[in-house]
Amino acid sequence: MSNEPVSAETESAMKLYQGVCDRFEQMATYIKLDEKVHAIMSQPKAEVMIHFPVKMDDGSYQLFKGYRIQHNNLLGPYKGGMRFSPEVSLDEVKGLAMLMTLKCALAKLPLGGAKGGIKYNPNDHSPEENQRITRRFTIALGHNIGPSYDIPAPDMGTNAQYMDWMMDTYHNLYGRKIEDKAVVTGKSVACGGSVGRASATGFGAVYCLEEWAKGQGMPLKGTTFSIQGFGNVGSHAAQKLEELGATLVAVNDHTATLINPDGISIAELADYVMEHRGIKGFQPENEVDDIDRFWSQHVEFMVLAALENVITRENADLIRAKLIVEGANGPVTTGAEAMLLKKGIQIIPDILANMGGVIVSYFEWVQNRNSEYWSAATVDEKLREKLIAAYRQVVAISEEEKISMRQAAYVESLKHLESVYLKRGVWP
Ligand code: NAD
Repeated sequence: MSNEPVSAETESAMKLYQGVCDRFEQMATYIKLDEKVHAIMSQPKAEVMIHFPVKMDDGSYQLFKGYRIQHNNLLGPYKGGMRFSPEVSLDEVKGLAMLMTLKCALAKLPLGGAKGGIKYNPNDHSPEENQRITRRFTIALGHNIGPSYDIPAPDMGTNAQYMDWMMDTYHNLYGRKIEDKAVVTGKSVACGGSVGRASATGFGAVYCLEEWAKGQGMPLKGTTFSIQGFGNVGSHAAQKLEELGATLVAVNDHTATLINPDGISIAELADYVMEHRGIKGFQPENEVDDIDRFWSQHVEFMVLAALENVITRENADLIRAKLIVEGANGPVTTGAEAMLLKKGIQIIPDILANMGGVIVSYFEWVQNRNSEYWSAATVDEKLREKLIAAYRQVVAISEEEKISMRQAAYVESLKHLESVYLKRGVWP
């Protein structure tokens, strides 16, 4: 056995996977989940791991490692993002795939849970190389994906352009039916994407936050918030919160931390980030080196929209927000959560707060299969309806059983999966 210390990334992935498994075990025991359902759910159904070569711009060849973890397809085809990042690992995608199963069940979507990705940094490659890497990965995945079998979507490090390349590759290889476009979601609108998909996760997180504030009798106008991550999820959540009258006073991303009690303009920051790929340099006079100043900001809301395990036992005591909204997956560790709840800080958990993305992905899939194009108003109305129904269900369970919102979300999701397993049985 090697005695080498594991890297920070490996440790983080192990923590994420362990955290998801621990929470699953805790709530499975709490609801006395049927023994066979418990056993089935505790492992993914399939783990696909592939290595594939790609020609670089200079003529050399590089070997890449890709993953697709298919956790569960009881409710429908596997569904989940493709993450392109140097931190991608088997443990990370296994944890995220299980979260997708729970999220789709909680949202009452006819979809299962999966996750995948490639272990590399797209920022280190030209657009041409990224295109060849994406297409070769799609070829290597072969029939492990498909519009009725497993439907990828964008995640960290990927966007609509990557989904367009995946769909086009799949279509060229196997396309025979109209619904082949539905092999991935999160495509550009021109290539069959749904309007409202890009903003769905960020807006959805804020729809949950709005419901929470209503429950507290707290008007959003005049409140302040901080946000970690100003990418797809973070920037859209910030935009919606600003529209509702809240002010962004602190923001952190992989490049810098910015604190400005007078307020930060979302539109200006979004334009800046688009051009510079980070917040560094936007307001140099308001940049701070000490990230603890970000965590300890006095705000009503803290939106976490970057990565996992960012609030741990080490910094949980610093948090002074009233509510944490988990736009990212697994940003609060189990140890930190216990400390926060004890301090009266509530958390809208990832499988509820960020389910807007998969809800509109489902809408895109339905539209593609029926050759329909819904309006922005229709998408937003249906998104709100589904999200608010899930939010209210979670809050009702949380209040009735005096458990946290995360525990309540797991209860609802696991009970739904169990009820279907018990009706269908395990064949043969
Ligand atoms: P993105 O790539 O658009 O943005 C990621 C953001 O995280 C960037 O602002 C980046 O600067 C920041 N970041 C990266 N490393 C960081 C670090 N070490 N410290 C601080 N900030 C860091 O990704 P996204 O699509 O906005 O996804 C963000 C999170 O939300 C991920 O955890 C993802 O799994 C989750 N999520 C996304 C969707 C979706 O629809 N995009 C849906 C559900 C969940």
